Amino acid sequence: MHELSIAIRIIDIAEEESRKHDDACVMAVHLKIGCMSGVVIEALLSAFEIAREETLLAHAELKIEALPVKVRCPKCDCEQLADSIQCLCCSVCRTLSPEITQGRELEVVAVELEPLETVQ
Ligand SMILES: [Zn+2]
Repeated sequence: MHELSIAIRIIDIAEEESRKHDDACVMAVHLKIGCMSGVVIEALLSAFEIAREETLLAHAELKIEALPVKVRCPKCDCEQLADSIQCLCCSVCRTLSPEITQGRELEVVAVELEPLETVQ
């Protein structure tokens, strides 16, 4: 399952961050996920619930920012929201754009840590 391997990768990144800070408890992981990344957010959330057990992320939540698709419009000469995932046209002037500027992201933006003493 695609989302499970992503969840495991996210946990790896957060645990690595936690180890750098004396095994601090991971409270939250902030993610940016583009609409064209192929990640189903609902599936990722349930995969994360399963994968986080017995890790440093047992009490962590995923905070996901879903990014809409944007294109660079050759006619407007700037970045615009795309019409849809299926139609990569500028939502303002409907010109088809060859360049996607946002929407394929899948990144960990930040890991929120809390020192163990505070949590216990
Ligand atoms: Zn345009």
